[in-house]
Amino acid sequence: MAHILIVEDEKAINTLIRKNLELVGHSCVSVFDGEAVFDALALQEFDLILLDIMLPKLDGFQVMEEVRDIPVIFLTARSDVGDKVRGLKLGADDYIVKPFDMLELQARIETVLRRFNKADRLFSFGGVEVDMAGQQVFLEGALVDFSPQEFLLIETLIKNRNIALSRDKLLEIAWGYDFGGDTRTVDVHIHAIRKKLGWEDVIKTVYKLGYRLEVGK
Ligand code: CA
Repeated sequence: MAHILIVEDEKAINTLIRKNLELVGHSCVSVFDGEAVFDALALQEFDLILLDIMLPKLDGFQVMEEVRDIPVIFLTARSDVGDKVRGLKLGADDYIVKPFDMLELQARIETVLRRFNKADRLFSFGGVEVDMAGQQVFLEGALVDFSPQEFLLIETLIKNRNIALSRDKLLEIAWGYDFGGDTRTVDVHIHAIRKKLGWEDVIKTVYKLGYRLEVGK
């Protein structure tokens, strides 16, 4: 997983992001102003920077001008198009407007990491091995067949591991907005996945919400 620098002066948001990213296996460093970015970069190498725009000391744009060779995703409260253009012109790799949900942030981080070949291609837990790029799942070395929707559910649970995902969100991700089915469809597929992988205790049911893949860090 990736080593991520979180630059956000609002402590609650910074902490929330860090906790969520650590849950899915990333390691993170939090800093709270623009100058601290350079102290952190002098000490460690990062795979990605999440960079707020409105920051004490140096703002995100000023920071961005000095950052080289590290993917950057801007975080900002502004939805202003001008900011977006300016951020991307300075070389940011993506842009996300606050408030965002963690799932959306995870997805964007994943996309940027993949673009820079820093995404995980393989996930393994117990006897299960998932090849993300090849879309194949192995149990004790033997290939297990999954429908495209089942694979998307597995992939989504893995990428957001240890985080509770609602049935609605899973339905939307695996079947798309336009799908007319209801959330029981998700239950049916989760049941099938649990059975095929022996994941009855690994995919936890979250009361009144949905599911969580519980694999530790
Ligand atoms: Ca801020």
